[in-house]
Amino acid sequence: MEKKNLKGLTKEELYSFFEEIGEKSFRGLQMTKHMYQRGISDFDEMTDFGKKLRDKLKNIAYIEDIKTLRHLISSQKDTEKFLFGLSDGNCLESVIMSYEDHIGPSRLTACISTQVGCLMGCSFCATGKSGFIRNLTAGEIADQIIQMQKIIAPSERRIANVVMMGMGEPMLNYDNVMKAVDIINCAEGIAIGMRHIAISTCGIIPGIKKLAQEGIQVKLAVSLHSPFDEIRSKIMPINKKYPLPELMKALKEYQEITGRRITFEYAMIDGVNDDLKSAEELARILEGFTALINLIPLNNVTEYGKKRSTDEKIEKFKSFMENKGIRTTIRKERGTDINAACGQLRKKVLEEEKNE
Ligand code: SF4
Repeated sequence: MEKKNLKGLTKEELYSFFEEIGEKSFRGLQMTKHMYQRGISDFDEMTDFGKKLRDKLKNIAYIEDIKTLRHLISSQKDTEKFLFGLSDGNCLESVIMSYEDHIGPSRLTACISTQVGCLMGCSFCATGKSGFIRNLTAGEIADQIIQMQKIIAPSERRIANVVMMGMGEPMLNYDNVMKAVDIINCAEGIAIGMRHIAISTCGIIPGIKKLAQEGIQVKLAVSLHSPFDEIRSKIMPINKKYPLPELMKALKEYQEITGRRITFEYAMIDGVNDDLKSAEELARILEGFTALINLIPLNNVTEYGKKRSTDEKIEKFKSFMENKGIRTTIRKERGTDINAACGQLRKKVLEEEKNE
């Protein structure tokens, strides 16, 4: 009999697993706590299971962790980047960022990946440049938080927010992403509230429609990057399949069903989408939405050949949107010394390996 990997099973699935192997279902709750709350993956450390049960588990199951290959801390100490190795030899990236707030200690936001590589090919993105390899399993998605939390545990900081904005397009790995959300949210597991989990999409309409029907309070972020179809298609090829008018219509329906605010991510690219015309059109297409615009100074991806907008232009764009009554923030640039932008570290390591 093939052994079963328990990492990635939800609490309910763990209840069923124990029942199926002839054990009491409450063992599923104990296993949830061991794997997801305490980050334990060795059955011998689960001392509330008797030796007989531990031996039985060893014969039929295992718990697979992702392995930390690199852990880099930015010179500002506000960003940490992780490169994790998977059992099939692939690797993925995750980031944690700290924000000082009024509560005192840093609250941490984890940016996690949902796929190895990405099919979407956005022109400014290092991940998009390296192509798509495979979907991550629910266990591999959730494990990024568990492993990062374990590594930073001595500092007593905690991951409080999760954004699925790392490598990959979450909506194209929908079922595993939803299962991972369940595991991340589970009160006896990682225990991060639904409102503190954000799913970011480049605009996959079927995924947005499905999410609207889930009845869960996760946040939705959409990468927009231009309010004009022609420019957006150049930056994000997916716009040819799901053009802006259709996307905005789907988002309107999403908002009507969920009543939830939508975050619009907008990379500021010099001379491409940072002019007054873009700002005016952006304000127009967002009319009637409860929206937050997050302006992102473009990260430097060598092959893209475009520059970030100047600080002055970014500030001007922000003021324009705010004058139109749309809440707008500017994302702080961080971690440039540790290749913190999506896909950059993985790409660098893969290139180094090729040159060895
Ligand atoms: S920005 Fe996101 S969706 Fe676009 S290629 Fe990169 S990982 Fe994929």
